[in-house]
Amino acid sequence: MAKILSGKEVAAALNSRLQARAAALAEQGVLPTLAIVRVGEREDDLSYERGAMKRCSTVGVSVRPFVLPADVRQDELLAVIRQINEDPAVHGCLLFRPLPKHLDERAVCEALRPEKDVDCITSGSLAAVFSGQGAGYPPCTAQAVLEILDHFGCELRGKRVTVVGRSLVVGKPVSMMLLGRHATVTICHTRTADLPGQCRQAEILVAAAGKAGVIGKEHVSPGQVVVDVGINWDAAAGRLRGDVDFEQAEPLVEAITPVPGGVGAVTTSVLVGHVVDAAARAAGL
Ligand code: NAP
Repeated sequence: MAKILSGKEVAAALNSRLQARAAALAEQGVLPTLAIVRVGEREDDLSYERGAMKRCSTVGVSVRPFVLPADVRQDELLAVIRQINEDPAVHGCLLFRPLPKHLDERAVCEALRPEKDVDCITSGSLAAVFSGQGAGYPPCTAQAVLEILDHFGCELRGKRVTVVGRSLVVGKPVSMMLLGRHATVTICHTRTADLPGQCRQAEILVAAAGKAGVIGKEHVSPGQVVVDVGINWDAAAGRLRGDVDFEQAEPLVEAITPVPGGVGAVTTSVLVGHVVDAAARAAGL
């Protein structure tokens, strides 16, 4: 039986470290504060917002919600971003995306001050992930993958890692971060020849394809550590499923993250951690 790499356990450890840091900042008169900007009432956004608010309150981070109608004008939204930029009491900003089609999403993202970009929405933050230089925070999901591997003592240096997926949100940044930790990384996508072989040869397999159960028993091998980033709603089964077919892979591999309760459980704690960090940096502590 594989070891189950519980994201809930990782999040609990992260939260207690963050609580201590937030309490130390409070003693210095600094209250870490996250602005949440939501346009419209998308159920995905509302559910993430509820999770983020709960996690913030557990850790001792304050939240300022900015809720705008779905037909908000570009200049009105930019004015909110400017207000966040100029408010020294706000340390980070979470902007829900995708924005409605009539808005220029890139322009809105780029308007945010880099030091408040706790969710890696500006091209400057993403460039820092790729260059390994400069300030900025990596995408929370990509960092959550590394938090899990680190928490369970999985050595990365010199390891063969295969990442399935090359999106700018998950696949590419997580690949660069693993490379930065001296892993030997193979990035796969829909045109990859022999995907099962590329996956089997890895010592660590990261699945971020966004397709329920696309990684099956032919993709995994004994001794492997499998991190499943996928969150896919299976309407027929009425439950969330990962990109990995858990029932097929779990008996064969050494360790695996569950879905739900894996990477998704850690992402919000990473975000809150970025806010605490940004507050400490802003206060020069
Ligand atoms: P995305 O933008 O749709 O990208 C999916 C990537 O996977 C693409 O690069 C695609 O290749 C590749 N891919 C798709 N099907 C494949 C297949 N059959 N074989 C090989 N490669 C395949 O998705 P994303 O935004 O990166 O998200 C990936 C997954 O992570 C989703 O399930 C999403 O819900 C989940 N997610 C989880 C969290 C979290 O907190 N846990 C956060 C964000 C996203 P091409 O480039 O060739 O099309």
